[in-house]
Amino acid sequence: MSQTPDLDARAFELDRAHVFHSWSAQGALKPLVFAGGLGSRLWDHAGRSYLDFSSQLVNVNIGYQHPAVVAAIQEQAATLTMVDPKHANLARGEAAERITAHAPDGFDKVFFTNGGADANENAIRMARLFTGREKVLSTYRSYHGNTGAAIVATGDWRRPAGNEFAHGHVHFFGPYLYRTEFWAGTPQEESERALRHLRRVIEAEGPATVAAILLETIPGTAGVLVPPDGYLAGVRALCDEFGIVLIADEVMAGFGRAGEWLAIDHWGITPDLITFAKGVNSGYVPAGGVIISNPIAHHFDERVFPGGLTYSGHPLAMAAIVAALDAMASEGIVANARSVGQDHIAPALAKLAERHDVVGEVRGLGVFHAIELVADRATREPLPDAAMGTVRTRLLERGLLPFIVNNRIHVVPPCVVTPEEVAEGVAIIDDVLATL
Ligand code: PLP
Repeated sequence: MSQTPDLDARAFELDRAHVFHSWSAQGALKPLVFAGGLGSRLWDHAGRSYLDFSSQLVNVNIGYQHPAVVAAIQEQAATLTMVDPKHANLARGEAAERITAHAPDGFDKVFFTNGGADANENAIRMARLFTGREKVLSTYRSYHGNTGAAIVATGDWRRPAGNEFAHGHVHFFGPYLYRTEFWAGTPQEESERALRHLRRVIEAEGPATVAAILLETIPGTAGVLVPPDGYLAGVRALCDEFGIVLIADEVMAGFGRAGEWLAIDHWGITPDLITFAKGVNSGYVPAGGVIISNPIAHHFDERVFPGGLTYSGHPLAMAAIVAALDAMASEGIVANARSVGQDHIAPALAKLAERHDVVGEVRGLGVFHAIELVADRATREPLPDAAMGTVRTRLLERGLLPFIVNNRIHVVPPCVVTPEEVAEGVAIIDDVLATL
């Protein structure tokens, strides 16, 4: 780790002068500078290091600078850096083969995109063309990406006022027992009532108009809302009853994050389309896509699928997928995410909840957890933004890079995080909560 603090100042100045940031008022931004990383740690040019409990945007599942993935990108770069999607290429075929191997039986094809938003965009298009129907149902507590249909399918504040980019979108409430919309007292009640609500929405909209239900298997940015047992099976049954395509958005929850290859594996659910991005190659080169079940794939055997992207199946991204998935399999990285989550993160967060009144609820699976902070445990009033700002500052001061959304600290380290690193990070959170 070389120490050249001047480069931090230079990176910061260049950023502030020329880089226009996502989802922000530009004026008061103070971006952190990062220069290097390894495993679950990152550092700046001055050598100040952070333990990463964010995985950037919850995507660096394999950790920083995995040597096999870096080498595969280097090798592909030295061989051939671009192949038009209409041609065949070994890296692309192998990536698709690896991905379908982790999908349920009956999924043999992959349509590659540049990331998660365009994966959802194309999945919605496939569902509409397959069913000949228009409407897409998705939840209020969701994020599906920042493009036409994907951002209108999104439920959170980023959905544009007015449906100017897309049409036929309807929202409903999914299960979230801690802040139940259904006056439920148990996970089972929450599941049953959320399913009853969804059935009523489908009936009221007219089942013959509904092309797809688009769901994050575990809504991520909305708060790591692990669905109660029975809910996803119930959604699957409603889709079967009404001939609706079920799209599982696994962009954040998939490829190790929830301690399984795909989060649907927790409940044994088989959707009709699965969208992915992030963890598939940990963002070493941008990539995403749609894993397509055979009936939908075959629908386009004789009909044109009207969609494509210059960088669909880009060789560098494909080489990174092959290497990342092979390393995750041979090094037991998904199993690590599961056991570290179960045996270390979940018990450590439960202790935080016992020790600090400010913790309203902790929940999650694998390396996909959230600590929900409240001003008042009885009313569950969220901890205000100013206090969350203080939490963030104090975590950073102590060397922990957090992922904070609204009143929550999401505990989302790389899947390679060790029990010792979990203990180190949770001790920092413990220390900061004690200062509130
Ligand atoms: N879907 C989910 C569940 C996500 O979390 C995200 C991004 O955070 C997206 C889709 C959009 O992915 P991208 O930013 O790669 O377009």
